[in-house]
Amino acid sequence: MKPGLESIKNIIAVASGKGGVGKSTVTTNLAFALKAKGFSVGVIDGDIYGPSQPGLLGSSDKPTGQGGFIVPVEKEGVKFISMGVMNPSGKAVIMRAPLAIRALSQFLSGVLWGELDYLLIDLPPGTGDIQLTLSQQARLTGAVIVTTPQRVALEISRNGVDMFKTVNVPILGIVENMSGFDCKHCGESTPIFKTGGGASLATKEGVPFLGCIPLDPEIMASGDEGVNLVSHHKGQGPAKAFVDLADKVIANQIEAKLETSEPKEIEVVNGKLQVSWEEGKPASYETFDLRFACPCANCIDENTGVQILTKESIATDISVVRHQLVGRYGMSIHFSDGHNTGIYKFSKLKGLENGTRQDSFSV
Ligand code: ADP
Repeated sequence: MKPGLESIKNIIAVASGKGGVGKSTVTTNLAFALKAKGFSVGVIDGDIYGPSQPGLLGSSDKPTGQGGFIVPVEKEGVKFISMGVMNPSGKAVIMRAPLAIRALSQFLSGVLWGELDYLLIDLPPGTGDIQLTLSQQARLTGAVIVTTPQRVALEISRNGVDMFKTVNVPILGIVENMSGFDCKHCGESTPIFKTGGGASLATKEGVPFLGCIPLDPEIMASGDEGVNLVSHHKGQGPAKAFVDLADKVIANQIEAKLETSEPKEIEVVNGKLQVSWEEGKPASYETFDLRFACPCANCIDENTGVQILTKESIATDISVVRHQLVGRYGMSIHFSDGHNTGIYKFSKLKGLENGTRQDSFSV
């Protein structure tokens, strides 16, 4: 079995601007709904400081090791990894951001995921280090944004949409959770947190709307007890909204694959970077100009934007040794002078072929 993300067909981030909107609950139930449809599914609990997947999925088994890699825990066929099973003491995870990033990197590259149709990544709320690391280290198929209908949640959700757009990750859509309470006795639906905000945010942002999930005590109870809501209710009743969500995610993920602004091919030919933005139309980049346009903090002052690197310090015969993709939005370039720390965003590289002017590539 292969470690890392190589044999995973679709990697989907589940994100929210605010905590407590039900992002982890949506991740778990989406995983069970995809599994019920016959797909092979994995879940990474990207919330390093506040992992909730062991509880929601209903397993606190400890992962084992094999050949220096982690064998993920499995619950009803869904593989998962979480800080909650790596550190089952229940004590707070107290670590600085670089260590949390390292933990996420290990979940991405050091786990024996094997072949999967879907890997869902339950992200912590916000648009910080973890989100950015994921966007750089994984080639995400797309992101699902979870919100509740309240104004404060919707406003912060917009930041998540913006972040994924910036790093060229397709937004598969917005889900409105806790959308209304359907009374089992009188049949009436009460929009406790209002309703319709998710759909209007989706329209405003020009991204798909994936539907509403009701506020339902059974959804809460299944999460608290670690019960598979989808199989328990045979995809009906409180589970129906998640089955419908899975259908929409599958459909939108196929579309997202078709419309990507990534290059078709990147090659290094005789020390020069060559990028085909369209099939069979390679464009060449001047290496000296590319090196001078490096956006890293060693070459450009992060605070003032002033260029530190001088043209005189670059060898005239500088060449490109190799490139490395950074998520779906850019690449790092390894130059013959040993420099490789800049991230060249595709959106900036495009149109600069055949002579690169200095520009800001930074994310
Ligand atoms: P987040 O991951 O956004 O912080 P959680 O998934 O942990 O949020 O959910 C927060 C709480 O809300 C949990 O107790 C969960 O059971 C509950 N919850 C989430 N979605 C629903 C829902 N649709 N109906 C009822 N309770 C829900």
